[in-house]
Amino acid sequence: MLTNLTQGHLSLLETCPRKFQQIFLEGLTVPPSPDLQTSQLWGNRFHLLMQQRELGLPLPGTLTDEEHLQACMAALVAQAPDLFRAEPSSFRQSEHRRSLAFNGYSLTVIYDLLILRPGAGLIVDWKTYLQVPNHASLAQDWQTRLYLYVLVETTDLSPEQVAMSYWFVRHREAQTGEFRPQEVKITYTSKQHEQTRQNLLKLTAALSGYQQSGHFPQVSLARGSCDRCLFVAPCGRLPESSATALSPLPSLAEIEEVPL
Ligand code: SF4
Repeated sequence: MLTNLTQGHLSLLETCPRKFQQIFLEGLTVPPSPDLQTSQLWGNRFHLLMQQRELGLPLPGTLTDEEHLQACMAALVAQAPDLFRAEPSSFRQSEHRRSLAFNGYSLTVIYDLLILRPGAGLIVDWKTYLQVPNHASLAQDWQTRLYLYVLVETTDLSPEQVAMSYWFVRHREAQTGEFRPQEVKITYTSKQHEQTRQNLLKLTAALSGYQQSGHFPQVSLARGSCDRCLFVAPCGRLPESSATALSPLPSLAEIEEVPL
């Protein structure tokens, strides 16, 4: 029985319980395209680079050779120097992990960088995909909701005292082509915190029911989730959905970054 939940689990569970079952419980996977593999490797290297920098460790030789990575990091440091400034009264840690017991499950988060100052908490997340989503969709993303929820529940900070900053480190100026990392900052309120609690209660209760019965329901075709799903065959949806042509694979920019 699955008891450890991340934002990836919550997001997929909300999208389609059957897909959740196929990926997380039955281990079905789709081989990533070469483009996606390259993008994931770049993202992994960038996260490693930032972690090394935070720890004050020398950068591995293979990384220092990567001009593209170095240019992105230099642009980020130039644009957001406050993020990298050490303060005696603050706590900061990269790849910071927290867990919270919740309704029979353990909710787990790993912050790319956590900065705690007296009366304030900031979660920083490096995003290495090219397209910058709008503020509303990022605020509704389970990563945002779970990360903020767990921070409030595991500290003495109130929702209004915490925030999350996404930094899109590969963003370029349209005219010059120079790297210009872009920030999307999400603030938080007590009302949103309570709403997330309710959503978590609902999702975890539903998951308990699915796991006990062994039945993970399909979503309605009307929701449109099946059109781009790569699991229509094992799901048994192929005959119904084949009446309408299946869409091709999504473009690289549309594929969500794999949480690290
Ligand atoms: S085809 Fe539709 S119902 Fe089946 S797993 Fe995919 S999204 Fe879910």
